Order: sequence, then C-alpha cells, then structure tokens
Amino acid sequence: MKIITTIAEMQEQMLRLKADGTTIGYVPTMGFLHEGHMTLMKKARHENDVVVLSIFVNPLQFGPTEDLDAYPRDFERDHKIAEAHGVDFIFYPSPEEMYPGTASITVSVVERTNVLCGKSRPGHFDGVATVLVKLFNIIQANRAYFGLKDAQQVAVVDGLIKDFNFPIQLIPVETIREEDGLAKSSRNVYLNDEERTQAPELHKSLQLAKAEIEKGERDPKQVIELVNTHINNHCNAEVDYIEIYSYPGLKELETLAGKIIIALAVRFSKARLIDNIILDVEKN
Ligand code: AMP
Repeated sequence: MKIITTIAEMQEQMLRLKADGTTIGYVPTMGFLHEGHMTLMKKARHENDVVVLSIFVNPLQFGPTEDLDAYPRDFERDHKIAEAHGVDFIFYPSPEEMYPGTASITVSVVERTNVLCGKSRPGHFDGVATVLVKLFNIIQANRAYFGLKDAQQVAVVDGLIKDFNFPIQLIPVETIREEDGLAKSSRNVYLNDEERTQAPELHKSLQLAKAEIEKGERDPKQVIELVNTHINNHCNAEVDYIEIYSYPGLKELETLAGKIIIALAVRFSKARLIDNIILDVEKN
C-alpha cells in the first residue's frame, strides 16, 4: 500500500493506471475509520482492480462554530485498517496542499440543499461539492463509494456527477450500525455514557415511523410528530430537524408515496448525530 500526500503524484499514478485499463474504486473519507468506512472499502475492493482511500478533513465543509479542530484524527490507526482491507493507495493531503491559496472558483449547490443538513449547515454542501470536484479530478475513479448514512450527501453527489458529467459510477452503500441500532459515526466518540445509551433511540424512532407507514399512515406531519415525541421522551437532546422528502429529489410531500426519506439530526451535548431511513411507500 502506498501513502501519497501530493496532488501531482496521486494524479500521475492514477492517470497511468487508467491508461492501462485498470479500474479504480474510490472511497472518500475524513478518517477515524470505523466499520461504516470498512464496508465501503470492502465493496470497492470486491468491484475494482485498485482501491483508493482518501483521508482529508475538509475545512470548507465545516461552519465557523463546528468541530473542525476537534474532529477526531488517528492516521496510524487508519493506516492499519486500510492495509487490512486491501486498500492500494491512501491519498492523505494537507489542507495547504488542497487549498494553496484563495480559490478563483468554488462550486455552489443549488438543488437538494435547501433542506435537512443543507439548511442547518449553510455552505456545508458547497464545501463538499468543491472538494469532490478536486478529488474526482485527482483520483480518476471509475466507481466512488458513499454511505447512505449521509443520504443528502449521496443525493448531492448524484447531482454533481450528472451535472458535471464525471465519468464515475456512484455506488451508495447501506448504513452500518452498532448492535443496538446506533449508526456508526466518527462523531459517536463525543457521546457521554448516558447519551450513548440514549442514542439508539434515534434509529428506534425511525423504525417506529416505518411501522406506522406500513400500517397505512400517509400523513408526513403525523409521522414526524411520532418520531419527535419518541426522541423527546427518550433522549436528553435537542432535535435539530426531523423531515420527510422524496428521495433522491428531496422534494416536499403532502402525502407519502414512492421512494421517501425520513431524516433527522439531533444535538447531544457534544455530538450532533444524523440518521435516516429510506422507504418505498405504496399508494393506499
Ligand atoms: P466521513 O469520514 O464521515 O466523511 O464518511 C466517509 C464516508 O463513509 C461517507 O460516504 C459516509 O457516508 C460513509 N459512512 C460514514 N458512516 C457510515 C455508516 N455508519 N455506514 C455506512 N457508511 C458510512
């Protein structure tokens, strides 16, 4: 496995591999790897000749009051995990390497971003899209693997790839969870003991919503109310949002039908956690 820190070397190696007809599977991450990331790596390993993992805590996608400096980092551990999962290249650039000066062009996401995390984290998806345009041009992947835990990100990347004609296949991967249902996240380390016991209730609230929809509920407001009540009754935390949209278009729905997402974000004392469920709803 090779660790590469410069854009020039990474791009040169990738262009050379591509010219030979080698297929490249790419897993973008911010590091502090857990089983969610490992599942993406395993899938990429299975489906491509070469696997590239990037580890870059992208300053552009953090707001001024967010956890950029505190974001957990452990390159030595990540290195071992990547090696054990058959990664061929780790791209590990510094912020100065990625953003050497003031940008003359940035990317602005205009659809699928005025809701959910896009609304509560202004500028976040512009930062995600900007770094991905750079990373896609550097890595030259055939397939890029993204987790559905960040379902809005998957929707935005879907738009980015289609609008800018990247010759990349987007591969969405199911959310990987702890045994008690909590979605794996690098940010789970911020939870204190009490919060850690409460956090699985987020997933439970989404399961309750699913059961209610399966029983015939089609009013999004009723479903949101159910989720909100469950979280407020079981978690000492503040609900940031609970919303329901079509997926991946992220359009509002008067009545639940077709492919939908129920997504939530909840603030515990030091961790803002997100989770979602994507369902196919039959007409009543
Ligand atoms: P991050 O390092 O948090 O930016 O995540 C890197 C990639 O891993 C993103 O595509 C995430 O959606 C994905 N990911 C993070 N957590 C999970 C999870 N629990 N299950 C599946 N994918 C995940």
